[in-house]
Amino acid sequence: MKGKQGNKYPRNTVYLFTYLPVYYLSVNVIPFFDLKKQYASIKTEIDAATQRVYASGWFILGPETEAFEKEFAEYIGVQHAVGVNSGTDALHLAIRALGIGPGDQVITVPNTAVATVAAIEMAGATPVLCDVRQDSMTMNADSFAAAITSKTRAVIPVHLFGQSAELDAIIGIARQYKLAVIEDCAQAHGATYQGQRVGSFGDVACFSFYPTKNLGAYGDGGAVLTNEARLADKVKLLRQYGWRARYESEISGVNTRLDELQAALLRVKLQHLSEWNDARRERAGLYTELLPNRRVHPPVEMPYGAHVYHLYVVQCDEAQGASRDYLAAFLKEREIGTAVQYPTPIHLQLAYQSLAPEGALPVAEKLAREILSLPLYPELSLDDVRTVADALREFES
Ligand SMILES: *Cc1c(COP(=O)(O)O)cnc(C)c1O
Repeated sequence: MKGKQGNKYPRNTVYLFTYLPVYYLSVNVIPFFDLKKQYASIKTEIDAATQRVYASGWFILGPETEAFEKEFAEYIGVQHAVGVNSGTDALHLAIRALGIGPGDQVITVPNTAVATVAAIEMAGATPVLCDVRQDSMTMNADSFAAAITSKTRAVIPVHLFGQSAELDAIIGIARQYKLAVIEDCAQAHGATYQGQRVGSFGDVACFSFYPTKNLGAYGDGGAVLTNEARLADKVKLLRQYGWRARYESEISGVNTRLDELQAALLRVKLQHLSEWNDARRERAGLYTELLPNRRVHPPVEMPYGAHVYHLYVVQCDEAQGASRDYLAAFLKEREIGTAVQYPTPIHLQLAYQSLAPEGALPVAEKLAREILSLPLYPELSLDDVRTVADALREFES
């Protein structure tokens, strides 16, 4: 037989039933993420919330969405939140609500979800990329300043992997050039900068509730947050055909609404977010303590805020011969799941090659070759963290 596992166990049901449990007990598989464990831990609450929505007979933009918007705005510490269909749409609507569109440039980073750049284009504006810092992997304020032109209207710092960008420097430059600041908080629900939650610093902030995010729905979802009533109002109009009253479009808009099921379960999950973020920080702390930090470097937690470890991303030092791809294969052999967020900087992807030539954004390009995300989620056991760290120690020895 040529199948990889073909000769491990005879193809016989009796053997399968006899040996499978033993097989799974003997091999400790550590997946990159596991959303089933989280559901199991809050099943009663989630099921009650979804049943409540089914029974209500109301499914799009209703009392659950309004309640979630209020609760999430309070959690972040801003006046207004507007629920939309995704993080991408949150960014798209935020840009449009600021009056930014064709002919305008918006600066962001190349090491982000492609969503950030796609949203700028959806609004009709032109994305411009600047480089990032090697330590925090977030926007480099000097590189941002150097990318500003007479057409620049806004900057989108991305709080990547759960850590705030250096907001003082970025916002300082933005104010000097009268640019709007749009925080991309899709990976940083609950992260702080100087003791205050991110999402409360810019003119507007955008969150995603994609299932794997620190606060994730069971489908798509997003929100736009702001302290400006005028902006929140504009986003509310834009998310539903520009309607203030039903069937009367005041401005032209789109359809990007948060549904009641997602809002209801997000309300449940919001109650657990702080405890989950604490669990992420505890596991990240243990990794950082246990990793040998020779050629594979743990993420740097900047002194200005609390990291919420959406992802735990190590850097494999190329110059010292640590190959990221080899490390990923090494861990895979030991049944440890990893991922690369993101393998190709945006300007090196086929669709976006016009944004910058190769070599123009060297730190982001180097990071894309060196980074590897290790398993990290609130339900990951501390023993599993130790197992992964042991494998890294073996790799480093
Ligand atoms: C996930 C993500 C988005 C997009 O969110 P969606 O809800 O998937 O549309 C935007 N920016 C960043 C940094 C993200 O990680």
